[in-house]
Amino acid sequence: MDTLDQIKKAIKHAMKSEFYKKHFAGLNIGDIKSMEDFQKLPFTDKEDLRQAYPLGLQAVGDEEIVRIHSSSGTTGTPVIIPYTKKDVHDWAVMFKRCYETAGCTSLDRIHITPGYGLWTAGIGFQAGAELLGAMAIPMGPGNTDKQIKMMIDLKSTVICATSSYALLLAEEIEKRGVRDKIRLKKGVIGSERWGEKMRKRIAGELGVELYDIYGLTEIYGPGIGINCQKQSAMHMWTDYFYCEIIDPKTGQLLPDGEAGELVITTLCKEGAPLIRYRTHDLTRIVPGKCECGLDYPRIATLIGRSDDMVKVRGAIIYPSRVDELLSSIEGISSEYQIMIDHLNGKDILTLFFETPAEGDAAYNLEKDVEHEFKERIGLTPKAKAVRMGELPRSEKKSTRVFDNRY
Ligand code: ZN
Repeated sequence: MDTLDQIKKAIKHAMKSEFYKKHFAGLNIGDIKSMEDFQKLPFTDKEDLRQAYPLGLQAVGDEEIVRIHSSSGTTGTPVIIPYTKKDVHDWAVMFKRCYETAGCTSLDRIHITPGYGLWTAGIGFQAGAELLGAMAIPMGPGNTDKQIKMMIDLKSTVICATSSYALLLAEEIEKRGVRDKIRLKKGVIGSERWGEKMRKRIAGELGVELYDIYGLTEIYGPGIGINCQKQSAMHMWTDYFYCEIIDPKTGQLLPDGEAGELVITTLCKEGAPLIRYRTHDLTRIVPGKCECGLDYPRIATLIGRSDDMVKVRGAIIYPSRVDELLSSIEGISSEYQIMIDHLNGKDILTLFFETPAEGDAAYNLEKDVEHEFKERIGLTPKAKAVRMGELPRSEKKSTRVFDNRY
């Protein structure tokens, strides 16, 4: 079956759900004759899914649903995703493939710190590890003492965590002086945007190879893609879903290689199929074949969320570009903050960064940052050096950009 036929079959199935019956009202599948026709279909966004609460996305009978998951409802109504037996199995198969791509085998002992429950994290890591035949150690988050004790006593070889939790564990292991008792070889880190500096610290302090795993609850969960041992980009398991990259502002499809928002269509999901789902993750398709030999297409490391992108005096600013820029300058920490203000009819961008440097040295760093920012991003900010530890820290995703213009 070619991609278009697979997509048409998925749409036909999706239209059995209350949500898609309405969303695609009046659509005749026979009229979709080309990929261009498919690309004219309306997107599905998270807000649509919220409105389908609780089970409006369900496209099969109740007797076929074996589990539900829910995306974190940080704002308002959560999204409920029902899964059939096949969906649960397909997800585990994809996750197993992730572990294999990272070089894990049935001899590994996989220490799982993401949470278990409505959220798809822990249970996905678990099911994939079991299918691989490895020893899953279902820790869940928190209780650092116990985490480290189990890691030592059970000789965990793979750590699964968010980047911030991996960093915390690395720091605690260092602090307790038990580094030589730790047997970790690999870290499988849940997808979020994280800078090169943090990656180097975790890899260095834990002595592990790091793999970025991609996924979102709406599309199975984590484990729908991972980077390979060539570390170049994340392979996506596109036998289960179809990927497009669009311009987040206009919704137009972008050619391979251009950065934009990832849009996913599930090809064989039964419980809650999704058609042209906007992930709001910014990335690009990496063209060409990977040296590792895997044929699955690749996406580049996420450069941010389309909701985090800001435009100032015509220049588009992604937080990841600022991370990169600052990490390329010696003597600057990874912490920074951007303030955007509208003063006297003009947008002003102020970039605060932390540095141990003082006096003339700090002034010179400010000038370097301004110069590099202009070179790479296309506008000159006002750079301000502040003392180490002066900018606020957050355990979760830190807010780095404050747009005071509106
Ligand atoms: Zn590869």
